[in-house]
Amino acid sequence: MINRQLPQHAPLTQFAVHDDCLQIGGMLLTRLAQRVGSTPFYAYDRQKITERVALLRQHLPPEILLHYAVKANPMPAVVQLLAGLTDGLDVASAGEMKIALDTGIDPGKISFAGPGKKAYELQSAIAAGAVLNVESQQELKTIAQQGAAMDITPAVAIRVNPDFELKAAGMKMGGGAKPFGIDAEQIPGVLREISSLNLDFVGFHIFSGSQNLNAAAIQQAQEQSIQLAIELARHAPSPVRLLNIGGGFGVPYFPGEQPLDIAAVGDHLRILMQQVRRQLPEAAVALELGRYLVAEAGIYVCRVLERKLSRGQVFLITDGGMHHHLAASGNFGQVIRKNYPVLIGNKVHGHEREIVSVTGPLCTPLDVLAEQLSMAKASAGDLVVVLQSGAYGLSASPVAFLGHPEPAEVLV
Ligand SMILES: *Cc1c(COP(=O)(O)O)cnc(C)c1O
Repeated sequence: MINRQLPQHAPLTQFAVHDDCLQIGGMLLTRLAQRVGSTPFYAYDRQKITERVALLRQHLPPEILLHYAVKANPMPAVVQLLAGLTDGLDVASAGEMKIALDTGIDPGKISFAGPGKKAYELQSAIAAGAVLNVESQQELKTIAQQGAAMDITPAVAIRVNPDFELKAAGMKMGGGAKPFGIDAEQIPGVLREISSLNLDFVGFHIFSGSQNLNAAAIQQAQEQSIQLAIELARHAPSPVRLLNIGGGFGVPYFPGEQPLDIAAVGDHLRILMQQVRRQLPEAAVALELGRYLVAEAGIYVCRVLERKLSRGQVFLITDGGMHHHLAASGNFGQVIRKNYPVLIGNKVHGHEREIVSVTGPLCTPLDVLAEQLSMAKASAGDLVVVLQSGAYGLSASPVAFLGHPEPAEVLV
């Protein structure tokens, strides 16, 4: 029995259901499982990714540039798709930059952020002609030296560690003491230094946090980021051409969470853009989004190996688990473990329902995909689906842990 007092998952209707079987990429999940040939696997729906970009374009001011943060899902086919749909790719390692460059995107539309960039990564980005988001004064000097040695003027944006935080964010990445970016109060001095170095100053990067479902908090962070950029621009050696105000748009993962009101974010941004046009007339404003573009378009699929009863509780033991999907197991930044939306893909509604826990093949109590969740009654051979799995899935998981095979990934 479902306890009505407990918060429920927001209704997730992005995938059609046919004959009680989930459809992804226009295919029945059972057929896709046969096509992939083995479980577990991740499947990403290209139509859903395309629709998500269209939804953003519909609600955001038309002049806003949309960048994809490759970290969320670096599968090359996904990055290739998004290279064609968005206005730029944001990377945070030489490995991600290689995937971005392989799409054939104009290298000037690639931004390379992240602390601790190694000398070979900087050299490679300068040679490629990517924009370097500078995270420290030491990095700035190294970039200038490497550019001089290569006879290239590197394009740099300064990542600012703002003097405010993104309220209600799942993960704060700006404000206070942080390893990311240069503290706002040091920026005027850094900008003076840039004018004496052989660097092409492009603009600012201000990323305050991630996984935010609160439109008002995002509106406030965007307003503060734009204010800060306008202030700092007074010290810049040349006009700001690119202002990356971060993203942080969240998706509902857990019971009680509701989708972000993207129309409200767009309406407020339209007002803010009037000020940008007046005060920073040469600046293009970019949003960098990861999970918002891909999370809801992806599923993780594993198969029930055994239905086991232990002291009155049902466990579905599957061939998939935390080694493939750390986030769904609750071990990727969660303080209290909460369930992702999980269902039986070939029995979405089912004839009978029961409260079960879904676990994996790893010999550790951490290997849990769902705990005491209501699902269709399942048995060996049925397909367990973890929804909201298109971001921070495989690439954020400890695949080597316990030596099981890696899952397949398909874009359908
Ligand atoms: C991780 C990251 C993102 C993407 O965050 P999402 O929550 O996936 O949208 C964007 N920008 C920077 C700088 C990041 O580190």
